[in-house]
Amino acid sequence: MEKREHLYEGKAKVMFATDDPNLYIQYFKDDATAFNGVKKGTITEKGVVNNLVASKLMTILEAVGIPVHLVRRLNDREQLVRKVQIIPVEVVIRNVAAGSMSRRLGIPEGQPLSRPVIEYYYKADSLDDPLIVRDHALVFGWATEAELAWIESTCLRINDVLIGFFANIGIRLVDYKLEFGRLAEDPGKVVLADEISPDTCRLWDWTTGEKLDKDRFRRDLGGVVEAYREVARRMGLAIES
Ligand code: ADP
Ligand code: UDP
Repeated sequence: MEKREHLYEGKAKVMFATDDPNLYIQYFKDDATAFNGVKKGTITEKGVVNNLVASKLMTILEAVGIPVHLVRRLNDREQLVRKVQIIPVEVVIRNVAAGSMSRRLGIPEGQPLSRPVIEYYYKADSLDDPLIVRDHALVFGWATEAELAWIESTCLRINDVLIGFFANIGIRLVDYKLEFGRLAEDPGKVVLADEISPDTCRLWDWTTGEKLDKDRFRRDLGGVVEAYREVARRMGLAIES
């Protein structure tokens, strides 16, 4: 498998083509952005840690039968993934009130939710990824009813697995964002794509409540990469540098 042209550079990753039309290489950068690109920074080694954490989480989900885009981790910063057409709806799963939900609804951060809440956001940088309702996704053709039904039930399965996995290593899975896509080679099949990492999750130490995620960057708390490394360490992952 050979790496080919640079296709798309996003805020945290770069996508490369390969000599296989159905496979991409996903490269993890150290760049960090928040508030839709308004706040920018570089976090040394973040890409290495996120590549490790995201690979491990995708592998765990695959092992319980969730279809994922990951083929394998290639090296420090790269993963081989299956090419998908990204469904332009970001799915946020919440177990505890925090972030925009707390701000929007006036619910104190840290208040547990009686059941997981699924929110949809339209993936459109020019509009700052607005919160949408399910009907918007359907009526504007961003996803079909069958896809949304599958995504919702799959998100609840993913959530059960991830809550348990993180609880076991003393971490509270507060909320996180998932992206799904239609396989290039079989568009009727939807898989979990993109990444799950401390960039896309809120992870709180179970006993102290210490934030081990991107809120350290968003809120200028310092110790960003140290917190990401702590998540990797508890996951049993060794960082080679
Ligand atoms: P952003 O576009 O939000 O700045 P990234 O820097 O993370 O995001 O860039 C990765 C881009 O690649 C995202 O737009 C994501 O939706 C997309 N993507 C993730 N996985 C795949 C995949 N398997 N095939 C095609 N595109 C993907
Ligand atoms: N999230 C993400 N990418 C986005 C928006 C949100 O990964 O473009 C994640 C974020 O890290 C958090 C969850 O989704 O774990 C919910 O984010 P929220 O809506 O609370 O937004 P924020 O407070 O980050 O503005």
